[in-house]
Parts: sequence; C-alpha cells; structure tokens
Amino acid sequence: MTRAGNLFTTHTAVAAGFDRFAPALIEQYLGGYAEQELGLPLHELLALGRQNPNDSSEPFNMAYLAIRGSGAANGVSRLHGQVSRHLFQPLFPRWPESEVPVGHVTNGVHMSSWDSAAADELWTAACGKDRWRGTTEHVEPAIRHISDAQLWQLRTTARNSLIGYARERLSGQLAASGASPEMVDGATHLFDPHALTLGFARRFATYKRPNLLLHNPARLLRLLTNPQRPVQLIIAGKAHPEDQAGQALIHEWIQFIRQPETRPHIMFLSDYDTRLAEHLVQGVDVWLNTPRRPWEACGTSGMKVLVNGGLNLSELDGWWAEAYTPDVGWALGDGQEHGEDPAWDAIEADTLYDLLERAVIPEFYARDGEGIPSAWVARMRESMARLTPRFSTNRTVREYTEQHYLPAAAAYRTRAANTGAVGRAVVNWEQTLKQQWATLHFGDVTVETRGEQHVFEIQVYLNDLDPKAVRVELYADGINGSDPIRLEMTRVRHLAGASGGYVYNAAVPAARPLADYTARIIPHCSGVAVPLEADLILWQR
Ligand SMILES: *Cc1c(COP(=O)(O)O)cnc(C)c1O
Repeated sequence: MTRAGNLFTTHTAVAAGFDRFAPALIEQYLGGYAEQELGLPLHELLALGRQNPNDSSEPFNMAYLAIRGSGAANGVSRLHGQVSRHLFQPLFPRWPESEVPVGHVTNGVHMSSWDSAAADELWTAACGKDRWRGTTEHVEPAIRHISDAQLWQLRTTARNSLIGYARERLSGQLAASGASPEMVDGATHLFDPHALTLGFARRFATYKRPNLLLHNPARLLRLLTNPQRPVQLIIAGKAHPEDQAGQALIHEWIQFIRQPETRPHIMFLSDYDTRLAEHLVQGVDVWLNTPRRPWEACGTSGMKVLVNGGLNLSELDGWWAEAYTPDVGWALGDGQEHGEDPAWDAIEADTLYDLLERAVIPEFYARDGEGIPSAWVARMRESMARLTPRFSTNRTVREYTEQHYLPAAAAYRTRAANTGAVGRAVVNWEQTLKQQWATLHFGDVTVETRGEQHVFEIQVYLNDLDPKAVRVELYADGINGSDPIRLEMTRVRHLAGASGGYVYNAAVPAARPLADYTARIIPHCSGVAVPLEADLILWQR
C-alpha cells in the first residue's frame, strides 16, 4: 500500500556494494515479525530480496527488497543511473536495459556549508546573502562580474590560510606520533604559500586509485620540485580498518613522503573528516580525483571546491562526467570503462602527469603584468559561475521534490484513500494479469508502406483479459544511444472469429526499416509504474 509513496535512492555502482544476508539470518531475525506482524509467509519475504524467488539458496539482497518496495528508483549521477540500470536488469527480464526503471538525480552539496568566510564575502558582494535561498539563475551572470583581481585575491588568501592550518595540524600529528622536536617544528615551516597546491582526500579504497600519482615516483618528484614552478600536494584519507589493500595504499604514500627531497612538497594529514575536508576544499587550487570509471557513483568532494574557486582535475566518472567541459577544469580518461586493467591505469597515470606538466602547472604560473594568471582565473570564473548552481543542493533538492517527492506523495494518497480502495484495485489488477498472461499471444502482422509511413496492423489475442489492463506498443531500439521508439498502438476493431481477439494499428515514419519494429504487450494501469511494479512483457518477436 505504501509502495507508491516510497523512493529508493541507490548509492553504489557495484553489485558487491549491495548488502546481502544469508536466508537463515533473515529467518532468525525477521521470520517471526513477517509472519505475525505482517502476515507475510517467510518464503514471500525472502522472495522480495531475490532475483529468482524460487531459489532457496539465493541470499537476501537489500537493494532488491528496496526496489520492490518502491514506486520509483534513482541513482545519484547520470552515469550512475545508467550503471544502475545494468545492475538491476536481472530483475526485469526481457525488458531493454534502457527501460529498467532507475533514473537519476545528481547529488549536490550545500554551498553555504562549504564556502570559506572570504568566499562568502565575495559571493555576498556579487549576488547577495540570500543567493542560495531560492532559484539560482541570477548566480551565473553575477559571478561573471567579479574581477580577475578579486578572484585571484580569494585564491591567494584561501591557499595561505589552508597552509597555516595544514602546518599546525601536521605538526600536532607528528608530535602525537612521537616524532623528534626538529620534525615537529619543521612541519610549521613546510610549504610555500605561493606555490600551486593540489589536494587529494578521500577514502582509500582501491577503486579510487589514490596511488595513481605514485605510478612513476621519479616523474612525480620532478613535477613537485621544479624550482621555477613548484607544486605541493596535501593528501588526506582513511582506509577501512579491514581493508588491507586500502591500508597498503596509505603506506605507499607515507613511504614516499619519508624521503627528504619529497618532504617539503607533500603532507599526509591523518583523520580525514568533514572538518579537515572543509579546510582542504576551501584552500586548494586543484582537487584531484582518480577513480576507476564507472565506480564512483557520484563523488561530492570535488563539488565542495567550486564555491571556493578551486578547480577540478578528475576522471570522467560520477558527477564530473556530466559537469566537465574544457573551460571549467581538466578531465582524465576517455569516457569509457576499462575495468581494473593495469595497462590502462598506466596510460591514465601518464595522462595525469602530462596534464599537470603541460596544462595545469603552466597555466597557474603564466602571470600577467599584475601578477595574475588570467587564463587560470578565467577558468575559475567559468567553474564558479556555471557549476556552482548546478551542483548545489538547491538543484538537487528541487529535482527530488518535483520529480519524486511530490508525485510520490500524491500517488500514495491516491492509493491509500478510502481505506486503500485504489491500492486493492491495483493488487487485483496485478493478480489478474499474472493469471491471464500466459494466454496472451499475437496473430498475423500486416504492414503497408504508404508514402512516408509504415502502417502496422497486428492481431492481438487478449482472451479473457480486459484490453484496458494492458498497452500494445510498437517498439524500436534507439540508435546511437538515443531513446528507443515506443508508440502506443490503437485498438481499431474486434476480430470477428475470436471473443478476446483485436486488431491494433499504428503508423511510424518510414525512415527506419520495417524490420527495426516489433510489437509488445505491457501492463497498464493508471498511476502504476511499469515495469517497476509490474514487469510482465510479451514481445511479438
Ligand atoms: C565530501 C566528503 C566525502 C565524500 O566525497 P567523495 O568525493 O565521495 O570522496 C567523504 N568524506 C568526507 C570527510 C567528506 O567531506
């Protein structure tokens, strides 16, 4: 009954990220509750968490349960929506992957929680205190009016204050770990407030490739230590205590930083949390992100630098796959998936060094007569003006509200009204469909091409099923990633010789060959999400 009012937001891009439980555990902890409180036999509860309801060895998958209890489902970026349609495809047998009912709402960040005091001041002068309180169309033109000098001043101030914070923090960290007084004191002088400052902070999980920059340590060292154009890097992150591989990646960095020549250029800050993240995203010039596509469902840390004038250099994964254009930052990868191929990792590591060496570093150090890197500042302005409103929670919450929460609330009210009259009707409709489905079939198909149109006439045998309980559609796969063609056919007459036989017709443009089209029967009931709530489908061929 509540199904129509529930929205399932899926957050992982790998099947292994779904929680699964042994059937015996479900029985032990939920069996009594299901049977006594819900009146649901254990095997029916278990079926809700299984791809194949009849396979008693299949574990209980929480994501399957969630999607079967919802009236809509969404991923957290456009690419993640696509990946999720693939992951949930097994639950919708014979449905094209593009029609697996998982859409997307791209995450956003709450800008006023992540901007620095200096950024807040600049933004307030440009577009007012209430800039994040309603619609955000005014943001883009207002940000375009900020001068180069003001933007660069923001950057310089922010970098300076990050370096102050990082020195203190590293020094405290070293003291706590029993380092020598020279080391502890040395930390308070590390880094150059005028040098290009890169940030990399995240959970150390192998798919995020936090060691991609270490692929060629000698090359990294050359980049960092160029006396004319020095670079410095702040790294932060934790690995899950049981993730040995993740721990090893942290260790690799610690080893690298121990060398006397790297020490002045890299800091590893431990205990990454939102407080540390706040300082990092406010102060860095460039935020790095190097996951293996498509495993970063969205990623949000890179969005937090936008409002502060930081730039992103990221794999084309998660949000960056939809945010990136060449004038707002830098992209890594070819927009394709390469799994865990070490040869591809090596190629991307080289591309990352090349990008830093040939694009990022020169642009940062190319100064005009005022000492301002004008191309860099232009990129900051584009990133702030265009991406900040798009990746703000303003846009995210609006999309959830308009596309999901309001329709779901209305759908729930409809179903629940009159002690669930509509809800009961939906259940009855579904039961009837299931009982009758095996009897449905197609008869003859005739096609006439008249001028610019193919006119299809198709015999459909619905037998005892009310024709209003289904839709007959003409379908053709999309071409080159476009949406498929789905055209509702019209019931034009009864077949004289059969009580439940009908002729349906539809006309389509003759631009595509006849053979691209096929007919299908799908469930139809007002207000019911198909195929999410009813996944039957019968193809003509
Ligand atoms: C924003 C944030 C995250 C999530 O960002 P990712 O881009 O997914 O890494 C994780 N940890 C902290 C402390 C954060 O502030």
